[in-house]
Amino acid sequence: MSHETVYAIASGKGGVGKTTTTVNLGTALAEAGERVAIVDADLGMANLAGFVSLSPDSTTLYDVLAGDASIDDATYRLADNMVAVPSGTSLDDYAETSPEGLREVVADLRSQFDYVFLDVGAGISHETVLPLGLADAVVLVSTPEPAAVHDTRKTIELTDRAGGDLAGIVLTRTRPDGDVSHEDIADRLELPLLGTIPEDPTARESVYAGTPLVVFEPRGPAALAYRRLAADLTGVDVGSPTDDGNGTSDELGAADTATNGETDADVADDADTADGREAAHDDVSSAITEAETDG
Ligand code: ADP
Ligand code: MG
Repeated sequence: MSHETVYAIASGKGGVGKTTTTVNLGTALAEAGERVAIVDADLGMANLAGFVSLSPDSTTLYDVLAGDASIDDATYRLADNMVAVPSGTSLDDYAETSPEGLREVVADLRSQFDYVFLDVGAGISHETVLPLGLADAVVLVSTPEPAAVHDTRKTIELTDRAGGDLAGIVLTRTRPDGDVSHEDIADRLELPLLGTIPEDPTARESVYAGTPLVVFEPRGPAALAYRRLAADLTGVDVGSPTDDGNGTSDELGAADTATNGETDADVADDADTADGREAAHDDVSSAITEAETDG
């Protein structure tokens, strides 16, 4: 069966939920048995690094784009069926990268995985536009806020120029008392409404826990909405969250090991044991806090 494999998760405005959407769509599909890669294509403002325990000299997408490493070296296992390719965070290293290399990265991942999600940067720079044309389908993310919706128009135009195909729009952080209907927002943008993700405080908590929302709070409103979106978007039978919170979903926490065997020194000791997961979470939480301080 052929299906769309590579999705670009994009937005005009930043901070609207792209990374949250990337991580949770990927996790929902991986839990359903699909092989998934999520890629931090937001080269300037890397977020996915928070879900992977990286030491400062770990190999990242930066090294791949600079021609210094292979994609496999920058691929970290998050769970049985899921890997992440994080970007670096150093401005100096960023200056060395060439977004053009993303072409080969995407081609390579396409051949290895059932689904590839590119977490694309906001704005209109070359590194933002390029992935829009590399993906089979572009999923736009916006909150219902007028400013975010307005900026979505620009990304629609950029997708067109990049030769990309729009799948539609996901509205995030929606509230029941919002005065504009979500269908109206999508209609005005002439896009299919792929789904809505309600405002849910556990979204932020899950980031600090270094655990995808669909695992952290599987029955919460946003997690359920992400599962539905994953199913609607791909046609995969994503199923419902397990009752006891154990089972496969329990294995989908933060990164335990890197495929290349290169783990953060603090995590390496416990990485191979189930008990090490708590330690890994602590470590990832601090990594996120550091990343936020840096950013
Ligand atoms: P982007 O990648 O577009 O910059 P993020 O996914 O990082 O956006 O989300 C931005 C912020 O909004 C984060 O703090 C995240 O936890 C929060 N957030 C995302 N989705 C939701 C939601 N459905 N409910 C509440 N907060 C959310
Ligand atoms: Mg992001």
